[in-house]
Formats: sequence, structure tokens, C-alpha cells
Amino acid sequence: MPAFKDNYLWLIHDGVHAAAVDPGDSAPILAALGEHGLTLTAILLTHHHADHIGGVPELLARFPVPVFGPRKDGIDLVTHALAEGDRVEVPGLALEMDVLDVPGHTLGHIAYVRRTPGLHWLFCGDTLFAGGCGRLFEGTPAQMMDSLGKLAALPEDTEVYCAHEYTVSNLRFAQAVDGGNEALALRVRDENAKRAAGLPTVPSSIGLERSTNPFLRYREPAIVGALVAAGRLGDGATPVQAFAALREWKNVF
Ligand SMILES: [Zn+2]
Repeated sequence: MPAFKDNYLWLIHDGVHAAAVDPGDSAPILAALGEHGLTLTAILLTHHHADHIGGVPELLARFPVPVFGPRKDGIDLVTHALAEGDRVEVPGLALEMDVLDVPGHTLGHIAYVRRTPGLHWLFCGDTLFAGGCGRLFEGTPAQMMDSLGKLAALPEDTEVYCAHEYTVSNLRFAQAVDGGNEALALRVRDENAKRAAGLPTVPSSIGLERSTNPFLRYREPAIVGALVAAGRLGDGATPVQAFAALREWKNVF
């Protein structure tokens, strides 16, 4: 469900029970539950920012359900604290998801991964975006680079459920640093058409991100060359220096 200016809140349901992922606002969640006759059975959180957890108290007032969330992000609403290696059996749904630690945007940020054959899902909050990545509010470039590396290593048919509709603006930056990428040019056309039709560009897929997202492609000579040409990177830089320069450029693009 769209919320605020450009957030997506996710509701996973089987027609009877539902789990909410990052419910920053309770109103769209409660409206969807009512409209579809669903009972909320769990809340899953990726990180501590208000636009991801703000609706939790009102949802709990109506549905006193378990709240899964990161162990290290200081969210006192969490009843089931998680870290990498944990597996969540989502109450009410035949759904198991594995937890990955993906620090960078926040230090405790986690992601949820469904590994069911043929049904690969990723809920990654504000870590990986369609065509981009989250800002480094708390972590270092090296941490974010490692976190994105874990996500890029997931199967390419993994559906990427990120938490914001930033795709078109992310791809404008991608074209500035990776202009010769034909897969990117095709994607720009596709995603612009979706937005023009009022459709979401999310979920994306890991395969599409690997081929078009500069924050997974900072080792590519074309992107390194663009950073050097822009005076944002010296010759002989390391991958983490290239990643950091790319993120800093995007901040001011
Ligand atoms: Zn955030």
C-alpha cells in the first residue's frame, strides 16, 4: 500500500491472515484489512525509522500480535528480536523467512528473505532500492557495500520489495554514471511507462538490479571511469572508495 509521500507498506496475506511489513502508518493497513476481511497475525520491521514503525502502536491496540524486528536497532515495540541466522515462522501464514543483517542505512537494519523454491522474496526496507540504495545515516560505506553484496548474491528471480518509490529518480542518476548500459536504457523506458500509467515500479528483481543498479555495479570500469571523469575518484581507487564516491555523488545529484 502506498503511504506518506512515496513509501510502500507491504501486507502479506493468504486471504484470511495477514502480516504487515514496516507499517509506518496504521490507516492504510487497517483499511486494507477491513476491505479484504483479513486478520492481522504479525508485524515485521526492518529498521527503526518512524516511517517504518509509526503505525505499530495503533495496530497493536486492535491486534495484539507479535512484533518481529532487529535486535540492534533499539525498537522497544519489538517482541521477537532478530539477527542474521534467525528464521521467522510468520504466525498465521505458511511462511518462513530468513533474516540477514544489512547495516548501513541504520546500524541494526535487517532484511527478510523467503527461499521457497519458485517463490523468492526479499523485504529489504531502505537498504536496496529499485535502481538505488538507502542513504548512510548510521553506517559506513564498507558496511553498506557488504550489505548490498549479500542481497546481490540472492537468486536473480528474487522479488525485491523495497519501501519507497524512488525508482525514476534513482535511474536518472544511474544513467549519468552508467550511460552505455543497454539494460539500463530499457529499464528506464519500462519504469517511466509504469509511472506514467500510475503503476508501481516495485517489486523489482535481484537480476534486474544486478544489471542496472549502479550501487551493485560500482566495480564496472564504465562506472569507475565516470567517477574519475567527474573528479570524484582518483586513479587506482579501491571498490569501497568507488562505492563511497558513488553514494556521495547521489546525495547531491
Ligand atoms: Zn529509513
